Amino acid sequence: MSFFSVRRIRKSYQKQIALHDFSLELEEGGQLAIVGESGSGKSTLLRILAGLEKQDSGEVFLQGQKILNPAEKLVAGYDEIKLIHQDYQLYPNSTVAENIARPLLLFEKNYTKNRVKSLLKQFGLEKLAERLPRQLSGGQQQKVAIAAAMAIEPEVLLLDEPFSSLDTIQTHQLIGELAESFKKGKTTVIFVTHELDDALRLTDNVLILQKGKIIQHGNSQFLCENPKNQYVARLFSPINSIPGKENTYLRPSDVKLRTRGQLLGHVVDSRFLVHFNSLQVRLKESGMIWEVDDPLRKYQVGDRVYLNWDAEKELELSS
Ligand code: ADP
Ligand code: MG
Repeated sequence: MSFFSVRRIRKSYQKQIALHDFSLELEEGGQLAIVGESGSGKSTLLRILAGLEKQDSGEVFLQGQKILNPAEKLVAGYDEIKLIHQDYQLYPNSTVAENIARPLLLFEKNYTKNRVKSLLKQFGLEKLAERLPRQLSGGQQQKVAIAAAMAIEPEVLLLDEPFSSLDTIQTHQLIGELAESFKKGKTTVIFVTHELDDALRLTDNVLILQKGKIIQHGNSQFLCENPKNQYVARLFSPINSIPGKENTYLRPSDVKLRTRGQLLGHVVDSRFLVHFNSLQVRLKESGMIWEVDDPLRKYQVGDRVYLNWDAEKELELSS
């Protein structure tokens, strides 16, 4: 039996199915990112995994112990499983070190002191230990919240889009730092998000959720190259439909721009992005608009261009 085991969880709200038949196995120290659009059932799942919400059927086991839901247990939730979300609050009048020590109030003083010290180090917060939350950036505050949640050494950490209030740069930096800390501490983590890019910065173990169903679970590069359907493919990049070839698509980065070749079109829009120009090309025959990358920044609006690609880059995708 694996460390954390989720077996055939089902959940409906009134007539709305939130989770179909969700199963998962996670090893100790393993990390998993669950990606799905808003409403796909991510928060419902994490609340059930934490024992904070009652499922209709199915079971959750941590190290062979069954996680009881609020209908089965007097005080809902477990110290072993910590759920953190965007609105996780720090104590405003306590310093960083005091916030991290809070969950340890009943522990022996020396232990608390050492534990706080080691968490400050693990999360790179040593220099901020004496600051109050309002003297920290949003990203630093979230890091303190996560360090505090780790104080009593939970077996599993569940992160429910905890970075939604941060800007992209802060988020990317924080996720990078957390990924290091989690690896160092061998923490078992499930991170849910609607941003694939955030997920990939934490781990390459990715599960795609759509309307409460697992669509695909695997290594991120495998998913990018072998998406099971259009929804999975579009999480990674836009896709272009190949005229005359049903359900067959190409990514903008797999299209090559040449002066002769397969498909003729005209550039109708060009946007400067960090690593390439993103072109909109209107295909001559079909009138379709394709999005293609121009890494050499060679083409301008109005230019004629031929689009080419290798057959093995074609993606066959159901809707
Ligand atoms: P996500 O976190 O991926 O956005 P949620 O788990 O919050 O998804 O919601 C999944 C589905 O269940 C949505 O359709 C949502 O409207 C519905 N839902 C969530 N919580 C409740 C609730 N307490 N009562 C009724 N419907 C709910
Ligand atoms: Mg949610």
